Amino acid sequence: MRNTQATQLLFELAKPGRRANMLPPSDVPTTPTEKLYPSGALRHEPLELPELSEGDVARHFTNLSSLNMSVDTHFYPLGSCTMKYNPKRNERLANLPGIVDLHPLQPDESAQGMLELLYELQSYFAEISGLPAVSLQPAAGAHGELTALMAAAAYFRDLGQTRTKVLIPDSAHGTNPASASMVGFQSITIRSRADGSVDMDDLRSKVDEQTAVFMITNPSTLGLFEKQIDQIAERIHSVGGLIYLDGANMNAILGIARPGDFGADMMHYNPHKTFSGPHGGGGPGAGPICVRDFLEPYLPVPRVTKVGEAYRMDADYPKAIGRVHGFHGNIGVLVRTYCYIRAYGGKGLRNVSEQAVLNANYMLARIRPLLPVPLGERCMHEFVASASKLKKERGITAMDIAKRLLDYGFHAPTVYFPLTVPEAMMMEPTETESKETLDAFVDALEQILSEDADTLHAAPTSTPISRPDEVRAARKPVMRWTATP
Ligand SMILES: *Cc1c(COP(=O)(O)O)cnc(C)c1O
Repeated sequence: MRNTQATQLLFELAKPGRRANMLPPSDVPTTPTEKLYPSGALRHEPLELPELSEGDVARHFTNLSSLNMSVDTHFYPLGSCTMKYNPKRNERLANLPGIVDLHPLQPDESAQGMLELLYELQSYFAEISGLPAVSLQPAAGAHGELTALMAAAAYFRDLGQTRTKVLIPDSAHGTNPASASMVGFQSITIRSRADGSVDMDDLRSKVDEQTAVFMITNPSTLGLFEKQIDQIAERIHSVGGLIYLDGANMNAILGIARPGDFGADMMHYNPHKTFSGPHGGGGPGAGPICVRDFLEPYLPVPRVTKVGEAYRMDADYPKAIGRVHGFHGNIGVLVRTYCYIRAYGGKGLRNVSEQAVLNANYMLARIRPLLPVPLGERCMHEFVASASKLKKERGITAMDIAKRLLDYGFHAPTVYFPLTVPEAMMMEPTETESKETLDAFVDALEQILSEDADTLHAAPTSTPISRPDEVRAARKPVMRWTATP
């Protein structure tokens, strides 16, 4: 049954004269508004706000909130996004008054606790990545890519080298070529082989003295570890280029493999993926980056440093690329990350990755008989199934299955990404899910595949809106209500 009541706007629910309880007008003498502001700046008609009772408003927003799927309400196997359950303790700690009441312009002496936390977090990021120098400033993974590439560009300028190219495998996330273009590099696609690994012949033919950076996601967006990473790094380094590791998939290798040890010179983390930061809703993320020591001079300022026993924000780095964010970055997310890492510890983090990989492989083994998984016998923390055969045989697309899963109470996997797999369905169960949940999901999928094609084309039927025009919704979103005259 569609829930239409919850999707009516407050303006549509309003009736003139409806009110919540109001306090009587204040009898404390104050300066009248007209005396405080010029009359041209004052509104003479009341704002046309919808008029409702308090109960109407409470129900409206409570109903709206229940329309969303979230990690607190549903299994959410959105590949690449690592939608794991976020421990509530981290929320409580990040909201302690001593943390939320800090002002970013406070003198360092009065914010030693926060600076110590950030300093320690830098050292954890360095240890997990195997790359010693850290900037906490970038606001998201894509912003981390941009920042690191800006640092790389500054490094090459400093060496007096003009390098124009950034090489990127065809399975990469769209943010990689976008970041490269924004820094002024030309992005060049490297083909993958049929097994999903980098085509070394294609790579060799495109690497030259113009190569600045090779950007690689490892484990890749196909959920496979690129085993040729040593050779790739050797080839890129032999022409003086750098390896950038897109760390969106760190959830598979925490405490198991360190990017700095397998050839990366720079990387970002996505704390909202790997370290249980909340995502979505347009809220803040973070995209801290780690780099090798020779790139440190170019990192953004200010940086958290320790002098004797005191922590401070230090902007005295003449070669730095400047600031990429106001103040100290999105520290609310970084505090949650700190709590997460402290709660698990080194062994615990390794356990997170081992469990994530085990869960993904369990799901892969159960799904393979239902939907082909074209690449890889085994996977890391995620895998990519394909609805290509179903589309040919029964006219059922990845989108149909994704939409129908909503009717069964599951968030859909990532669909149509990576672009190298036709009718892709990228599934990432994460370590926080139980065997029962994984089984329930696969059972639902099996049930869906036994339904007739028309049922799937009509899905979802349980949501307020069935199939919006996704292109128009993305390109021309209507963000504002206007009264129809
Ligand atoms: C999520 C993701 C990004 C971008 O990270 P944001 O934090 O969303 O900016 C980049 N690459 C890959 C592979 C990703 O999954």
